[in-house]
Amino acid sequence: MNFYILTLFPDMIKSTMSYSILGKAQAAKKINIECINIRDFSKSKHKQVDDYPYGGGPGMVMQPQPIYDAYEYIISKYKINPRVIYMSPQGKTFSQKIAKELSIEKELIILCGHYEGIDQRVIDEIVTDEISIGDYILTGGELAAMVVIDAVARLVPGVLGRKESFEEESFSNNLLEYPQYTRPPVFRGKEVPKVLLSGHHEKIKQWRREQSLKITLEKRPDLLEKTNLTDKDIKYIEKLNNE
Ligand code: SAM
Repeated sequence: MNFYILTLFPDMIKSTMSYSILGKAQAAKKINIECINIRDFSKSKHKQVDDYPYGGGPGMVMQPQPIYDAYEYIISKYKINPRVIYMSPQGKTFSQKIAKELSIEKELIILCGHYEGIDQRVIDEIVTDEISIGDYILTGGELAAMVVIDAVARLVPGVLGRKESFEEESFSNNLLEYPQYTRPPVFRGKEVPKVLLSGHHEKIKQWRREQSLKITLEKRPDLLEKTNLTDKDIKYIEKLNNE
């Protein structure tokens, strides 16, 4: 999968995305993250990319021309017409569901704003989706874009080791994940739940399901309304509610 990031701060993205799983996924060519510096497309003498807002007010606004030209450069160079996501506090709130939906795309363009934002005309011209990572204001879209890239890229086949790695994790089926344990078997007097050491796969599976239900009920009961619950799950939840 190819990510094309339109940004004023390409190094910020390149360096952060070079670590760990995403770094390895790029080396293995499972994903490709190309940063396009919007400033390179400025036609002004001093490579200016922002200007004062019409109508007054604080801050600066990113001009449409360098952004549009950077976008044109990508679509004509690669002969593609992908979705263009503008990272914006006004967008749809990002979720695992949106990450899954985006992970089946072959390529995505992600536009990062800065300062007071971007001239509305270029948003209207090229953007297909607006995504927010939460109800707060960041200084720029780069951190938000990296959140999206990280969550999407790890769903791309071959990026994570095993398919199971994300099939059971939090939100994948509207349940939070069960607690995880590793060595040592006793830490500060606390033992790993015995069932996990039993080697009994069915019992482990059942324990994990029950733990997921319990944790979701405690921390995010709203999710349970969207979960596919079996009769056994419902009985277990009733039991928890009666305790
Ligand atoms: N003036 C804008 C407003 O009130 O809607 C905020 C601009 S913000 C300071 C600068 C840039 O950061 C935005 O253009 C956007 O790309 C990015 N940004 C800020 N908060 C964000 C959020 N919660 N999610 C995604 N991107 C965000």
